[in-house]
Amino acid sequence: MTALSAIVPRPDATQDPAVLARRLSAAANSLDLFERVAAAREAIAGPLVFTTSFGLEDQTIGHAILSQNLDIDLVTLDTGRLFAETHDVWAETERRYGRRIQAVVPERAALESLIEAQGANGFRASVAARQACCHVRKVELLNRALEGAAGWITGLRADQSQHRAEVSFAEVDSARGLIKINPLFDWTRERADAFTREHDVPVNTLHAAGFLSIGCAPCTRAVQPGEPERAGRWWWEDEGKSECGLHANPLHMAARKVLEESALESAKS
Ligand code: SF4
Repeated sequence: MTALSAIVPRPDATQDPAVLARRLSAAANSLDLFERVAAAREAIAGPLVFTTSFGLEDQTIGHAILSQNLDIDLVTLDTGRLFAETHDVWAETERRYGRRIQAVVPERAALESLIEAQGANGFRASVAARQACCHVRKVELLNRALEGAAGWITGLRADQSQHRAEVSFAEVDSARGLIKINPLFDWTRERADAFTREHDVPVNTLHAAGFLSIGCAPCTRAVQPGEPERAGRWWWEDEGKSECGLHANPLHMAARKVLEESALESAKS
């Protein structure tokens, strides 16, 4: 038995996910980042997927996973609208750790229909149109990336925004039927920045230019000192809409899908 096994739950496919999540969250407080991802791997029976956008937080977690060679799948959602700098850090990360990171790309027919309906940058027309684009280029990809997964590791931090204030280490994602692991739930951005420097982790060069949260190029801008971290995402929308649906409250997902479908329909008509 490893030292970790003494404090984290043993893998047990029959265990109540809510109980497992509570026990993992309780254990997290005494674990460092390396131990947190190892604990998740040890406690969750079945495939574990880490989705990375190669931002500061994801590079931090990626280092903890890759430097320990953990049996965790690394996947990125290649929306087709990412920055060249994001592709650069993706390639640099693969070189540094000697491991391929799997890309999931938009489904061809859905993407062609979206572009036909909206045009190249139709996502700026309305919140619903933007959500439709995010669905085709991101959410549907995530759904495929997580097919068959028992756990999903993300780079969410509780202090990133009001939407994320309730994030804990381990949560049940009942809509997806898995346990969601947020190893940086109690970290600050400064701590992640210090970690990447300490461990010489490759980071996106856009961070140094004021891009704090980096997503698709047309929907991301640099922020000014003092602006909220996610203010550079979909800045033309009302405050509070700075989420793309990947981490939506499951209770809101069905309503959002209806919105997206109606946006697509009205754009076609
Ligand atoms: S972030 Fe922008 S370009 Fe990327 S999927 Fe969403 S709306 Fe489309």
